[in-house]
Amino acid sequence: MAMEVFTVNTERRGAINITENVRNCVEKLAEGRSGVAFVFTFHTTTAITVNEAESGLMEDLIEAGVSVVPKRDYRHNRIDNNAEAHIISSIIGNSVALPVENGNLRLGTWQSVLLLEFDGPRTRKVGVKFLAETE
Ligand code: ZN
Repeated sequence: MAMEVFTVNTERRGAINITENVRNCVEKLAEGRSGVAFVFTFHTTTAITVNEAESGLMEDLIEAGVSVVPKRDYRHNRIDNNAEAHIISSIIGNSVALPVENGNLRLGTWQSVLLLEFDGPRTRKVGVKFLAETE
């Protein structure tokens, strides 16, 4: 089963709309078939979610994520001082599964696929796998 990978350049923190990147991968992988697209980030301080790509909400998602994790003297901060980013990433999750109909990503009107960066700026890799329906 093939996988498509694309990269995204991020800032310190922020939400990036990756829907078009995912759509392009799905079109290549699905070739007109229906099934499930599995979208995941290869990193431990980013998350992936499906929500509205409205600029205010995209900032709100980041701020709310940061505020959920209390400021503490985390053990991991002895290594690279980004424990909070790891914890937020785990709370939100590093993947989403999306429906594909006849080769096309089937999202709701206001739904977009968002990559959430909590410890940039970096170049991030996102993978897309496609699992086809069997008749
Ligand atoms: Zn770390």
